[in-house]
Amino acid sequence: MSRVFNFSAGPATLPEAVLQRARDEMLDWRGTGMSVMEMSHRGKAFMSIAVQAEADFRELLAVPDNYRVLFLQGGASLQFAGVPMNLLRGKPTADYINTGAWSKKAIAQAKKYCDVNVVASTEDSGFTRVPAADSLAFSDDAAYVHYTPNETIGGVEFQYVPDTGDIPLVADMSSTILSRPIDIAKFGVIYAGAQKNIGPAGLTIVIVRDDLIGEVLPGTPDVMNYKSQADADSMLNTPPTYSWYLAGLVFQWLKHLGGLNSMAEINQRKAAKLYAAIDGSDFYSSPVAADSRSWMNVPFTLADPALDKPFLEGAEAAGLATLKGHRSVGGMRASIYNAMPEEGVDALIAYMKEFEQQHG
Ligand SMILES: *Cc1c(COP(=O)(O)O)cnc(C)c1O
Repeated sequence: MSRVFNFSAGPATLPEAVLQRARDEMLDWRGTGMSVMEMSHRGKAFMSIAVQAEADFRELLAVPDNYRVLFLQGGASLQFAGVPMNLLRGKPTADYINTGAWSKKAIAQAKKYCDVNVVASTEDSGFTRVPAADSLAFSDDAAYVHYTPNETIGGVEFQYVPDTGDIPLVADMSSTILSRPIDIAKFGVIYAGAQKNIGPAGLTIVIVRDDLIGEVLPGTPDVMNYKSQADADSMLNTPPTYSWYLAGLVFQWLKHLGGLNSMAEINQRKAAKLYAAIDGSDFYSSPVAADSRSWMNVPFTLADPALDKPFLEGAEAAGLATLKGHRSVGGMRASIYNAMPEEGVDALIAYMKEFEQQHG
């Protein structure tokens, strides 16, 4: 068996220790004689897994008591609709910040349910930066403000949390949650698909302040109603049990590493050395403004696009997988989530230097 360093943007690499533990527990979870995949979600064994996972998640992010944590399905994409359905609460409008591909998708879905004010857009920059904090002005009557703290495709990340005053702030944290501590109290809703930085695909986590739940748009399905799901402990119907379990193993792994302060230090160091390698050469370049660069997704281009193919082939041969950039950006993209070890980033940088020497 040999594992590669996998730079996929999602589904993304998982910690090897977590996969090994899941393997060891695969056929017989702690003497139950069955796999977690085969258990009733309402039985004692799975309930203990679910409760532990939520407790560990809350501890890692210091989630205050007046927030509910929901373990749902449908991906972040379903929350693009779930957010307006749950948060409009009788208001006709919502504010959105447009910083790239995922913002745009959220906006397109929200437009089905309300008037969307795009209060800031960086489209004229080709989505290579975030708006300046002091350039943001929100609508008095907005039900909420939605933004995408980390744009996974463009590699653009907010280094600040927008100040929306009393208007609830909603964040699609699919590709940045758990990468560092966050002050949950600044947010009304945070949601994230699991397959970047939490666990396997199929699970979506929603953190919601409890005074915001209870009033939904007419026609909202019960499974998309935050109140119904909160009241049922996210078990209104069969939850994605195995993904929930694996996410729980990831939370234990994070706690074992020292929690999110330690993770933040490691992530910052990994990103800093990769950007330094890109900036330190005339051969590679980053399309993203220096104050808007993502810790998690690092797009970069080669001086000559004709070298993209040999670069990717050589990378593959060196055990560095899934570096091809998104088709809308081109070039390369290295996703370096929590589970990408620092040695993976070091190996990528070494390969980049070697490739430049041969072709630069
Ligand atoms: C991947 C991603 C999504 C889409 O997630 P799904 O779970 O596939 O719906 C949405 N937003 C961001 C920021 C993402 O990175």
